[in-house]
Amino acid sequence: MDKKNLIKENKELKSKIEQLENLLILDPLTKVYNRRYIEVELKRIFQEVSMIRGNSDRRTSKKGELSIVFLDIDNFKQKNDIYGHQAGDLVLKKVSSLIKNKIRITDKIARYGGEEFLIILEKSNQIDAFKKVERIREIISNKTIEVKGSSINVTITLGIASLSDEQSVEQLIEEADKALYQGKHSGKNKTVIYKQKSA
Ligand code: GH3
Ligand code: MG
Ligand code: MG
Repeated sequence: MDKKNLIKENKELKSKIEQLENLLILDPLTKVYNRRYIEVELKRIFQEVSMIRGNSDRRTSKKGELSIVFLDIDNFKQKNDIYGHQAGDLVLKKVSSLIKNKIRITDKIARYGGEEFLIILEKSNQIDAFKKVERIREIISNKTIEVKGSSINVTITLGIASLSDEQSVEQLIEEADKALYQGKHSGKNKTVIYKQKSA
């Protein structure tokens, strides 16, 4: 095989590998990360940040901060009922890409379940995370999504948990989930920061 063909074949192989990698790590509908990938990533990042926190300079460094956010679209079943499942799918796509475009390149978003997403915000404490996701929540609540001739308004509820000392990755996830639950049960379309109940 001549050099030209070899280069061409190499390119095609690389692109095939990339396609396969994407199949493994991305959610097919929304093209954000899938749950399997984000869970592995979260464990890796959690360990990395925990190590940094073990060092003495952590108070002065953002590198020791980590927040995660659970985000769920409000009343989505009703949206499907009114506009149809296909329109619902397009709403999911639009909301995902909107969020992906608003977070930093180092932040990560995944579809965790049907209309629920998980965001990892590195170098962000709970205040940084709150500011960032509140901005996204406001943008989404003020936006009208045009889908197949229908104008659809959606809102989202978010729960934030931030890394503190002596906490496992499972606890961090549970805390963000609790915060989301609290937001859902106190009116939706809001961001709640998980707060440890004092004894
Ligand atoms: P809440 O505000 O409490 O979150 O209410 P909700 O209606 O959003 O939540 P619920 O769990 O009752 O319903 C979630 C709905 O999301 C039901 C399901 O049909 C819809 N859903 C989940 N995955 C998809 C999907 O891939 N496409 C579409 N179109 N809808 C989906
Ligand atoms: Mg929902
Ligand atoms: Mg849900």
